[in-house]
Amino acid sequence: MIKEVSIFGKVYDIEYVKDPWGDSDLGRVSPKNSKIQICENMKDDVKAEAILHEIIHALSSDMNLQMDEQAVSSLSVGIYSTMMANRELFNQLRDCDLKP
Ligand SMILES: [Zn+2]
Repeated sequence: MIKEVSIFGKVYDIEYVKDPWGDSDLGRVSPKNSKIQICENMKDDVKAEAILHEIIHALSSDMNLQMDEQAVSSLSVGIYSTMMANRELFNQLRDCDLKP
């Protein structure tokens, strides 16, 4: 699994932790410390969706969107399922030369 992600040019370290919170949370993000923590004892696709969920929390914080947990959860599930159903589009985006 990936070890870091860049959000608006800020690199967040991703740490995989074992049973960290004792509740249903699959991850945590600290924009202040540029750190994402993800439960390690999950399948890779669940980890990937949890990372996306925490990225959306970070975006909401950085952009002052004030999204609540329901909005973050709904958007992460929606983006993840759209990405999985349209892999060719996301492969094209990944391969785009973004230089002017
Ligand atoms: Zn959340």
